[in-house]
Amino acid sequence: MKKSLVNDLLKGYFGDDVFNLIGELSKKKDYSEFKLAEALKKEVNETRNLLYKLHSLNLASFTRKKDNKIGWYIYYWTFHDEIINDFLLRHEKSQLESLKERFLKEGKSDFYSCLNKCVRLDFDKACDFSFHCPECGELLGQEVEGDERRLGSEMVKICEEIRFLEELRKRTVGTQTNQAADGGKR
Ligand SMILES: [Zn+2]
Repeated sequence: MKKSLVNDLLKGYFGDDVFNLIGELSKKKDYSEFKLAEALKKEVNETRNLLYKLHSLNLASFTRKKDNKIGWYIYYWTFHDEIINDFLLRHEKSQLESLKERFLKEGKSDFYSCLNKCVRLDFDKACDFSFHCPECGELLGQEVEGDERRLGSEMVKICEEIRFLEELRKRTVGTQTNQAADGGKR
């Protein structure tokens, strides 16, 4: 289930074609785009377009070498597996921010409380608990003019995904040497 959440997020973000490309490309470094196209059963041009999508997000890079036999440059691609977690985290957090804005616009308050009145938490704390009451486990509701409204399940889901990715990162960073693991800015 753990690894498959990352896969689900990748598939949701990129769609099937790029997702399958990532699966193949992450098998080895300096993967020739011809071999890659062959493995994916796609045209080279089509494969290249998919690769450029990853490249534009700094998730893949290439080197090129002239093939003396055919006289062309061949591009060799490498997927940056080590920064995918941070990439997904950034994406999830920005999604969560826009959901939060939407909820704030609709409601009045940035506080979330338990229907059983155990706790009242601000947004960040509520997110830490995936919008469930730390006391009784009840789903938290956003306060709206004295009334409470149930949160969208989407928000709960994203908070859970973010917590999962952060856990995963903690574990990965622990085992990693000083690679450029954080992909630049946060
Ligand atoms: Zn409660």
